[in-house]
Amino acid sequence: MSRFMNPTFGSLKPYVPGEIPRDRTFVKLNTNESPYPPSPGVIASFNAEAAAQQRLYSDPQSRDLNRAIAGSLNVRQENIMTTGGSDETLELAFIAYAQDGIAFADETYGFYRVLSDLHAIDTKIIPLHGDFSLDPADYFHLGRMIVIANPNAPTGIYLKPAQLEPVLQNNPDHIVVIDEAYVDFGNESMVPYIRKYDNLIVVQTFSKSRSMAGARIGYACADAALIEDLEKLRNSRNPYDVSRQSQLAGVKAVEDAVYYREQCMKIVRTREWTMRRLRELGFEGPESYANFVFVRHPAFTGGTIQQKLRERGFLVRHFSDERIKDYNRITIGTQEDMEALCAALEEITGYDKNR
Ligand code: PMP
Repeated sequence: MSRFMNPTFGSLKPYVPGEIPRDRTFVKLNTNESPYPPSPGVIASFNAEAAAQQRLYSDPQSRDLNRAIAGSLNVRQENIMTTGGSDETLELAFIAYAQDGIAFADETYGFYRVLSDLHAIDTKIIPLHGDFSLDPADYFHLGRMIVIANPNAPTGIYLKPAQLEPVLQNNPDHIVVIDEAYVDFGNESMVPYIRKYDNLIVVQTFSKSRSMAGARIGYACADAALIEDLEKLRNSRNPYDVSRQSQLAGVKAVEDAVYYREQCMKIVRTREWTMRRLRELGFEGPESYANFVFVRHPAFTGGTIQQKLRERGFLVRHFSDERIKDYNRITIGTQEDMEALCAALEEITGYDKNR
């Protein structure tokens, strides 16, 4: 830190993203990207005409994209705000609604902690139960904003909307953000509940199920009054946050919903296969509802598994946090990727097929 920087940020610990390798080809299973390419329509949108249009600013209201997203979710355009990735949506919500503080789980998406530190928000950490399950009753009457990732990361555990609904009912004067980054992998969304609850913000992203992590598109779906708040802040910060190319490609992605549904189903099938195989190899972990699994092996530390996989060309995510340091979070790749990963783990764990 230079002597010029505001000392308020002296102890800030920025988010540490998963490794983006440059030196050799890895099977990259560490940042929950899709192993499949974007849809043909999205790919075709990256053309010379679109490139020439880059001299112009993007539509600061992302109108075409918002309209497309609203149509796909069966809500009105005024219920949608699009941002540069859902990290930005989350930040705007933290800025807007955390004046009484915020609450989230001890093991959840690490960016929540970073954002609350950055914005000096009073933070209440609510430990998950022993099996990493989240009890909605732990979130009743907290007198502060709440954020819950559902499915949760890195555990992959999911609660049905009806199970989370009491959190909304029991915090009528505070915002509840449900971060659905991984909802498309076979789960039911809380989006329809925005009609019933004016304190609900559902956050989704194009980064995982729509194979567009690099395009940076995320959005909030909420009551129109909340979207107005968030837009006010977005326009006070970075009104051109979603690039012209991303808006164009995003519309194509929404149009190609059938393609993406198929990719998600493939990922779910591969996830089920992977979890079965990992259990046979002696791994344990919660049933996952996302595009990753969260597993440990009783005979190895999480760091050892990560390192041995790296030596064999696989990148997975390991967190050093005490409670989860035995685990690795492994993104679901193609079926071939996962068969190769399991073969490597078979070798690493010394699994004996003839046992
Ligand atoms: N929420 C959760 C739970 C995530 O895991 C991620 C991915 N790191 C995000 C939000 C942010 O994704 P993006 O900014 O790419 O939309």
